[in-house]
Amino acid sequence: MEKVECLIIGSGPAGYTAAIYAARADMKPVVYEGLQPGGQLTITTDVENYPGYPDGIMGPEMMDNFKKQAVRLGADVRFGMVTSVEFDRNGGNHKVFVDGTKEIEAETVIISTGASAKWLNLPSEQRLNGSGVSACAVCDGFFYRGEDVAIVGGGDTAAEEATYLSKICSKVYMLVRKDHFRASKAMQHKVENTPNIEVLFNHETLEVLGEQTVEGVRVVNNITKEEKEIPIKGFFVAIGHKPNTDIFKDYLEMDEAGYIKTKPDSTKTDIPGVFVSGDAQDKVYRQAVTAAGTGCMAALDAERYLSMRGYSEETA
Ligand code: NDP
Repeated sequence: MEKVECLIIGSGPAGYTAAIYAARADMKPVVYEGLQPGGQLTITTDVENYPGYPDGIMGPEMMDNFKKQAVRLGADVRFGMVTSVEFDRNGGNHKVFVDGTKEIEAETVIISTGASAKWLNLPSEQRLNGSGVSACAVCDGFFYRGEDVAIVGGGDTAAEEATYLSKICSKVYMLVRKDHFRASKAMQHKVENTPNIEVLFNHETLEVLGEQTVEGVRVVNNITKEEKEIPIKGFFVAIGHKPNTDIFKDYLEMDEAGYIKTKPDSTKTDIPGVFVSGDAQDKVYRQAVTAAGTGCMAALDAERYLSMRGYSEETA
């Protein structure tokens, strides 16, 4: 069985920043990238709010830079998915299983598994997923060039994706369930100043229409109860995210939504030697820069844990 000092699960800004700090502290980190190497930023376009890029940068390029920096400093970045874990509550090493087979023993584990898109959970949405239904405008918008599409959600993601789609598609219907946006004022202004975006406030989705591919959406006005069908070719869902923490639920304390709880002013979980950073523990800020910040904290916490552990072993 392979034994490592520091195993990092996930390869978004949190995971790679943890890897950069752990590598520089000579912890020889091993990073498992997971199903979406580079994380959520690989499916965005321009990142304008990450400090250090005065002209902005494309999300995939930024994540490529994170990875290159981690590798240059000595991180061992591997393609693979951590499928289960056996954490030791009593201060021993932890077992991590990769792709259901490979077993690794880790002195410290840094969880940076991020979050995934939420769905409306309508049967028609599930049935047509991949055939006109998508949770990533940047990935799939291209397929609906010159067509009419709809996007659900009133947050920053929905506003950003609606603006993106408006450049490719002829018309974008934005379905917002409340009478106001949740998105920031800046994003709202962008949406409101885009002539081919029509915002339908107080509208909810009843059914995505179509047999093989999306042909329309049936919506209801939740004030007037009036229903209508809108012909569209693409249906995008942008209603937030769920933390990717299911494999840890038997071991770690979490809130009701699945965000892993940390001890105050740290990235420590309730198991010694297991740390968490990024969106897996943050439901408040959820930014690349805050994820990177907590990745740094996790590596520093892991380093301190290892040195204290070494100290107590030496003095035992
Ligand atoms: P949010 O949780 O902020 O917004 C989710 C939106 O989806 C809300 O309008 C919510 O409505 C709506 N919604 C949730 N469930 C349903 C449902 N079942 N049916 C219909 N609508 C639903 O998620 P985002 O992904 O937009 O943003 C997450 C975080 O990332 C935020 O902090 C955001 O600021 C940040 N972000 C920042 C960006 C940037 O700075 N460039 C870009 C993208 C995201 P309701 O308001 O009624 O709950």
